Amino acid sequence: MTNTESPTTAAPTAAPSSSPLLDAITVDPEQGRAIPDAATGETIGYAPVHTIVDLDAAVDAARAAQTGWAALGHEERSRILHLAADEIDAHAEELARIIASEQGKPLNGAGARFEAAGCAVWVRNAADTIIEPELLFEAEGTRSELHYVPLGVVAAIGPWNWPALIGIWQIAPSLRMGNAVVVKPSSSTPLSVLAVVELMNRHLPDGVLTVVSGNREVGARIAGHPRIDKVMFTGSTETGREIVRSSADNLARLTLELGGNDPGIVLPGANASEIGEALFWGIFINTGQTCAALKRLYVHESVHDEVVAALASLAESIPMGPGADEENLLGPLTTPQQFDIVSRLVDDARQRGATVVTGGEAAPELGPRFYRTTIVTDISDGADLVEQEQFGPVIPVIRYTDLDDAVARANASAQGLGASVWGDPAEARRVADRLEAGTVWINQHGTLNPMVPFGGVKASGYGLEFGAHGLKSVAAPKVITV
Ligand code: NAD
Repeated sequence: MTNTESPTTAAPTAAPSSSPLLDAITVDPEQGRAIPDAATGETIGYAPVHTIVDLDAAVDAARAAQTGWAALGHEERSRILHLAADEIDAHAEELARIIASEQGKPLNGAGARFEAAGCAVWVRNAADTIIEPELLFEAEGTRSELHYVPLGVVAAIGPWNWPALIGIWQIAPSLRMGNAVVVKPSSSTPLSVLAVVELMNRHLPDGVLTVVSGNREVGARIAGHPRIDKVMFTGSTETGREIVRSSADNLARLTLELGGNDPGIVLPGANASEIGEALFWGIFINTGQTCAALKRLYVHESVHDEVVAALASLAESIPMGPGADEENLLGPLTTPQQFDIVSRLVDDARQRGATVVTGGEAAPELGPRFYRTTIVTDISDGADLVEQEQFGPVIPVIRYTDLDDAVARANASAQGLGASVWGDPAEARRVADRLEAGTVWINQHGTLNPMVPFGGVKASGYGLEFGAHGLKSVAAPKVITV
């Protein structure tokens, strides 16, 4: 069933807010930038437009506050982070509604409520993970230990697709390790980040965590900022390269979580009806706007038609529509630019002779940025839809005959964030060893766990987030030899 609500075409106006959290973070219209609801285009609030002067002030405040924050020690910082997590939980519904409206993901399923709840989970996890000093060497009266000490000021630059949760992935470990943090949200989704930081700041000391809600100039200044010690960046590979260049002068440490073009391989003998639903959500979570979503599906010819039929049936039945509507599980493209990218890639595939099994067009009756869930077959490597990150509700399904050939094609991408193998677990495990990716999932795709490190290889970036590995990446290793 497809949601067929009539479109909202009203001129952007500030909708009356019933959210004290939203009221706390929005500024007066004349001082801010209007932020639209992703589904309707109506203004939901105004985000501050900070400048490089504001950035410098935030970095100075962070530097001043960091020493005291570090001096509190792990137990006290952990206690405060738990209070922050409780605050997020207490306002999770308000936070979820801001995310659903601004970014567009529906409230239910792996949507906005899931994102809001995840923020508290990741904060608690960072607060509770213990990093013990490591004994490196001990003999003949000499003892060398490795300690992890704060870096100083960490900058967190995030994307628009999971704005609050990815912000927390950068903020929580950094604070836990005794750093102060300056956050630069995507200019498409600043309210979600301002909201989650507002909740945390009800418990953190002044200056320890500041949002600088500016445009690309502010982002560009961050990576080369002389008083920033580390940049946690999540976004496109192209911007990641710019950040590497900018960091040459200050030698800021970098964690780069960049784009992905994750392959999935369905093995001969896989049961389409058993794997269909997990496969569908591995592809279409957040309407495909997820870094580690499955973006190219290689299916053995013996099961190709059944897998395509299972995916098409789900594509036609999973409800799409505005995020605030409880029944929807798929939403709009968050930005007009992303809508254009998705439309262009599908049009190009069609012109090359690919078959659009279902979807393949906008859904204007739902709103201006909706694109129907789309399955494309009779397509191969070389088409832009296979080679490039579509970041939307479209999947190219590529028929293969020889497994070695499928593995070679999966690995031919410049990117290497995630990959998955579907079918017999033992066979899938052997294939997993051969895939070039930071994570390989078997009979699932894109599931993340706060204890399990996550990061890419090749052009998907470097550095790890989550768990003890993630905490160590926002600290300076320091050896003490006695
Ligand atoms: P983007 O690269 O356009 O922007 C990301 C952030 O960088 C924004 O806050 C932007 O304002 C800022 N920015 C832009 N230019 C900058 C510069 N020169 N210096 C510093 N900051 C700058 O990415 P996006 O379109 O917001 O997000 C989508 C991309 O992010 C996709 O490629 C997706 O795969 C990737 N992503 C990766 C992960 C991961 O964990 N690997 C997670 C989510 C998204």
